[in-house]
Amino acid sequence: MTLHKPSQPKVRPGFPARLDAPRAADLTLRPAAVRLAGPVVSKPVLAPQGLGMDSNAVRHNMVAKLAKQGITDSWVLKAMGQVERHRFVDTALVNQAYEDTSLPIGLGQTISKPGVVSRMLELLRQGHAGHLGRVLEIGTGCGYQAAVLSHLCQEVYSIERLRGLHDKARNNLRYFRLANVHLLFGDGMLGYAKGAPYAGIIAAAGGEAVPQAWIDQLAVGGRLVAPVSCGAASPARQALMVIDKTAQGLRQTVMEAVHFVPLKSGVD
Ligand code: SAH
Repeated sequence: MTLHKPSQPKVRPGFPARLDAPRAADLTLRPAAVRLAGPVVSKPVLAPQGLGMDSNAVRHNMVAKLAKQGITDSWVLKAMGQVERHRFVDTALVNQAYEDTSLPIGLGQTISKPGVVSRMLELLRQGHAGHLGRVLEIGTGCGYQAAVLSHLCQEVYSIERLRGLHDKARNNLRYFRLANVHLLFGDGMLGYAKGAPYAGIIAAAGGEAVPQAWIDQLAVGGRLVAPVSCGAASPARQALMVIDKTAQGLRQTVMEAVHFVPLKSGVD
């Protein structure tokens, strides 16, 4: 497969795709016969109730908890209820897919907590009645947030700097057949000028500052939501930053503390 230059990320077509290989996450949920010292008894091995072919109940439980935590945007809650998060994590982690926790997705990266994803999407959508227009996501990771975004905006451009995760996201998303999600391989610090201007930009990795390219590629009237480090002295401390681009200039608001993987330059 060709590596694309960081400055020229390529829109990958591939949606909708044809093949639907059965996924491990679908295959783990049958009660199994367990042989004990006495007679054979039938007993569930892991009790991952509600996952796999019927994950609706457990997902709606997650959404109810998000609402309790203070997420009020009905569009965001609905989208979080629509996307099957268990399809984005490894089989061994399926039982934790609907807990409010970040989980490893390989190559040292993590899928963000549902609470943080929904909070950032709510901030991104604030003040909008319907779908957002084009949105740029920096840090595709496993593709989960891109899938949620696909229900909230007209077009999603999602860029990832790690080839392995870019490929993983494409595999994960194939099942969902989301025609409005465009996966890009490249350095998201440069944004993706070809898709600009964006109604929204959302970053899933935190740097010391918001790259100028993101500001340049944001539409007037658009909003950017990104984790930003609190300074060189304590780079591990991050806060959510909201930047509104108005006709009069930029308006910045620092929100709550968060913990994201670092924003890195170049591709690997
Ligand atoms: N939204 C993702 C979260 C992934 S974690 C999900 O739902 O799974 C953040 C991701 O940002 C990591 O995969 C990391 O490789 C990526 N990243 C970090 N710096 C980047 C950059 N400059 N450009 C693109 N992706 C970047």
